[in-house]
Amino acid sequence: MEILDEILKAFDVDFLSVEDEETYNNIRVKYVGKNGLVTEALKEIKNVAADKKKEYGESVNKLKNLLESRLADLKQKLEEKALKRELDEMERVDLTTPAADQSGSLHPVTITRNKIVNVFKSMGFTVEDGNEIETEYNNFEAVNIPKDHPARDMQDTFYLANGQVLKTHTSASQNRIMRKYGAPLRVIFPGRCFRNEELDASHENTFFQLEGMMIDKNISIANLIYFMKTMLSQVFGKEVEVRLRPGFFPFVEPGFELDCSCPYCGGKGCNVCKKGGWIELCPCGMIHPRVLEMGGINPEEYQGFAFGLGLSRMAMMNFEINDIRVLNGGKLKQLKQVKTK
Ligand SMILES: [Zn+2]
Repeated sequence: MEILDEILKAFDVDFLSVEDEETYNNIRVKYVGKNGLVTEALKEIKNVAADKKKEYGESVNKLKNLLESRLADLKQKLEEKALKRELDEMERVDLTTPAADQSGSLHPVTITRNKIVNVFKSMGFTVEDGNEIETEYNNFEAVNIPKDHPARDMQDTFYLANGQVLKTHTSASQNRIMRKYGAPLRVIFPGRCFRNEELDASHENTFFQLEGMMIDKNISIANLIYFMKTMLSQVFGKEVEVRLRPGFFPFVEPGFELDCSCPYCGGKGCNVCKKGGWIELCPCGMIHPRVLEMGGINPEEYQGFAFGLGLSRMAMMNFEINDIRVLNGGKLKQLKQVKTK
């Protein structure tokens, strides 16, 4: 009988040390296995006095049942613990983490956009995303292009059945962004734009722009010129000159076409600048007071400038691509041929 007590005591100690399936199996075999301590104890019955054999046999069975039921409980707890660990690990997988290994290479437009975005970030600009499907109001009215305005005809628009449009220019995001942040504001918003164009080497129905706005007190054309010169010199990685020619865009007043000295030939004349030494680069100007007002910003207090870089065009210049259709064509053979300047 004493030996049974000792087995139970030893079991209690071993029981506490079980941590996993392996240690669990070890003690199960040790106590209730075929050659386990309980089986061994039962064999001892031959040495027990005849009148005690029945009582001894019952005690061994009771011990065996007790150990087996405690082991069964323990096994269940271990399984629950393992399941919980598995679930925890599943939760720790963040499906939004970008893949560490970026196989393949980035698209010329993406490379160009990243480069320009980094320059602006270093100048304290935030980067906003715009909707590709916009209300007619945001695409036109909010940037001072009312119904029947001739500028609407210049932009062959894709209308959706619900009356919304595929945005024809990144300016469609101006109003939303001004209303979101108010003034002062330094922001750029690259985006994909859509126009119902006949495709040729310089026209695409889907193209990329990168627009920027800087709104603050006492902003003037001098700020615009200085800023554009600094920004473009950084983007091209060399000092460039800029010049403004009057241009008409409904959302700016006054509006300009900005030319920059050709960064590729230094103004001597090359294929990119068509031998002229200057590149017609982007529309820009002082934001129209009505546009500020519609964006919830008081034009008496704040002024600002805006500019729209043709991102597809910048990528074409940067990668010596002569045909804009290459960018969206999805033909790897053509894209692989492009090389950066
Ligand atoms: Zn040139």
